[in-house]
Amino acid sequence: QNAIEARGLEKTYRGQHGQPPKHALKGIDLAIPQGSIFGLLGPNGAGKSTFINILAGLVMKTAGSVSIWGFDIDRNPRNARRSIGIVPQELNLDPFFTPREAMEIQAGLYGVPKRARKTEEILAAVGLTDKAEAYARSLSGGMRRRLLVAKAMVHSPPILVLDEPTAGVDIELRAQLWDYVRQLHAAGTTIVLTTHYLEEAEELCDRIAIINNGEVVAHDTKDALLRRL
Ligand code: ADP
Ligand code: ADP
Repeated sequence: QNAIEARGLEKTYRGQHGQPPKHALKGIDLAIPQGSIFGLLGPNGAGKSTFINILAGLVMKTAGSVSIWGFDIDRNPRNARRSIGIVPQELNLDPFFTPREAMEIQAGLYGVPKRARKTEEILAAVGLTDKAEAYARSLSGGMRRRLLVAKAMVHSPPILVLDEPTAGVDIELRAQLWDYVRQLHAAGTTIVLTTHYLEEAEELCDRIAIINNGEVVAHDTKDALLRRL
């Protein structure tokens, strides 16, 4: 079964300030199988974030369809919300909340009952137990990234989507994040991530779609793809 399926997905941004319209996605067909670690690999400007932001309900598509477990995201936004955890690229955090508070707020937003919350477990898994009472201003970039991953997992979504998860993260933290993503995958989570590092896709992913200029130019298992490069 496919966790995510995109058919003929298009996005055209309106041109601002006299700019021409930008065709960021030009008819993407993609099937992301349940249980995969799926890498969307491509250079800056390829359209990766646009794809992720459509999944996240942050960007309105121009044409085509996206379904999650076979349910159209437009007709079943609640299914999409339950099914997906999103780790955005920007390190946006509420400045006046500690990681523990941020996790509780997120759990509340997603309607996770108090008894069912795994706040401490998730914070421990991303290595933030020691920082659970710290304020955002005292968290490094890597810690912020890990908190965003922790927040995305608060409702135990079966699909975790990460937009450039290790952009701006040092080598040590990158390895830590990769480990955590692998753990989640081993526990049954389907993973989708974007990256512009071949190395990251190679290290982590079992299937890779190469996206360039709004089009999927190759899509295969990692091994098959790397044999062709
Ligand atoms: P980022 O920090 O993600 O690079 P920018 O500062 O480039 O963001 O862009 C800020 C806002 O403008 C965002 O909403 C982004 O989606 C939008 N944006 C990004 N690229 C363009 C573009 N080429 N033309 C117009 N808006 C853009
Ligand atoms: P990637 O994530 O692969 O770097 P994006 O999806 O961010 O690519 O961007 C794809 C293209 O769409 C780029 O040319 C970018 O400048 C443009 N773009 C992104 N957001 C906006 C926006 N809000 N308005 C106009 N153009 C945008």
